[in-house]
Amino acid sequence: MVLHRLSVSFAVALVLLLAPLVSVRNQSPRAADFDLLITNVRIVDGSGNPWYRADVAIKNGRIQRIGRLNPAEATQTIDAREQILAPGFIDVHTHVESIYSQPAAENFVRMGVTSLVTGNCGSSAVEVSNFLGRIQQTPLAVNLATLIAHGSVRRNVVGLDDRAPTAEELKQMEALVEQGMKDGAVGLSTGLIYVPGTYARTDEIIALARVAARFGGLYATHMRNEGDKVAEAIKESIQIGEAAGLPVDISHFKISNKRFWGRTPMTLGLVRDARARGLSVTVDQYAYTASSTSLDSRLPSWLRAGGLEEGKKRLEDPATRQKVIDEMKESLKRSGFKDYSYAMVASFRPDKSFNGKSIAEITKQVRGKSNVQNQIEQILTMYDAGGASMVYHGMSEDDVRRIMAAPFTMIASDSGVRQVDESVPHPRGYGNNARVLGRYVRELKLITLEDAIRKMTSLPAQTFGFQDRGLVREGLAADLVIFDDATISDRATFENPHQYPAGISYVIVNGQLVLAGGELTAARPGVALRGPGFVQPNTMAVED
Ligand SMILES: [Zn+2]
Repeated sequence: MVLHRLSVSFAVALVLLLAPLVSVRNQSPRAADFDLLITNVRIVDGSGNPWYRADVAIKNGRIQRIGRLNPAEATQTIDAREQILAPGFIDVHTHVESIYSQPAAENFVRMGVTSLVTGNCGSSAVEVSNFLGRIQQTPLAVNLATLIAHGSVRRNVVGLDDRAPTAEELKQMEALVEQGMKDGAVGLSTGLIYVPGTYARTDEIIALARVAARFGGLYATHMRNEGDKVAEAIKESIQIGEAAGLPVDISHFKISNKRFWGRTPMTLGLVRDARARGLSVTVDQYAYTASSTSLDSRLPSWLRAGGLEEGKKRLEDPATRQKVIDEMKESLKRSGFKDYSYAMVASFRPDKSFNGKSIAEITKQVRGKSNVQNQIEQILTMYDAGGASMVYHGMSEDDVRRIMAAPFTMIASDSGVRQVDESVPHPRGYGNNARVLGRYVRELKLITLEDAIRKMTSLPAQTFGFQDRGLVREGLAADLVIFDDATISDRATFENPHQYPAGISYVIVNGQLVLAGGELTAARPGVALRGPGFVQPNTMAVED
């Protein structure tokens, strides 16, 4: 029987049937040489090199040996039946601040992800030590790293006001970033469309990025603009990296303004030019033509100053309300969309029947008539009721492909930990990695399997400083994924997102199986991945 020729669903069933074939031997009185041996695999090692055949042996959470190895020397053996063995995927752009309430992180594990970087887009735990330290009490299935976020730090010190920090406040913010880096953050993140990050000028960010730079961190940014001013925003990001002296990763690289579709040769060119000048700039991307963020992000930033209650108060004034409506009409026009039919509700708490519908559809349903004026009124009503999380169908497929093909692009989901509920979230949290490997590698042949894996493993590891992960090499941490390159595919759709991908059968984190034969295990082997500035608490006193 040849596995490659089987249909997707049959192959999944077969993987389940094969699970008992994992031979578990009784532990002999002498400890076995290997804890786990994987045979019959084609190794895609994460470097971008073509696949090769070898057995891989794991001992004490590390890759112990690669070569032709004897199953008799292992406690447990997986016959991978010619599937692909790759380093576990490193997802460098997530929002998993709530991961301790869902420590199995099932949606990530089932995508083959073994390490997460959270704290992106300017929002993180400010007490990094506590956040990472909780892994002792609540072990996780995956490894966890975090950035220290500018927006959260600013909120702590300045609040949600639309103003520059005083000199004293800036010092306090610098101190918080310094503490975050010493507690193990891997760098500084910003979210420059959100409150309060949007109120920061470039010099403020440079000052904080300098602190992250001193501790060997990087700068990860959700830029000020991904539409008509995307070029200026990219230049600002690069300027911050250059002035502060640290690497820059531009998050979820895209063009979300319809009038600017097709300009990725220019935007990617700005990154390429910066690299040619010797500046370390990378980007990350999810493999979809829709983005996902709050409904608030469609409203003027001045309206949102001080938070929701302040914003609601301002909207009570008819003149202000009219000004908001006028600005929203103007910005919709600038974005090249004729109305808000590109904006779909992922989750609206007060009325779940809105979930999965566009603002245009909801407006028609609620107000009878769905012109732009009514749609904006509907958005303001929903903002007033606490806001919504949204999916915006705002990108072009050609741009997505051009970005994916760039050598400095990493694959990252921008997702939180998901659970099956009544929301209709962006499918990226269920399908991203599998979608790249199924659709863009196998079906469209846009990039090779080896290059796609590199973008999910060694490139993220190199960029975020995970020196002992991201490659299949002797001595490195045994974070691994086994999948069938002939059947791997995403099943999550925009209409029906709560679906796990097909074709991924084994996921190993620090030498332990967290997914075995397509089934989640109870293992929680994840560790905190701390950045280069990390100071062990008991050594802090010795510093001077
Ligand atoms: Zn973002």
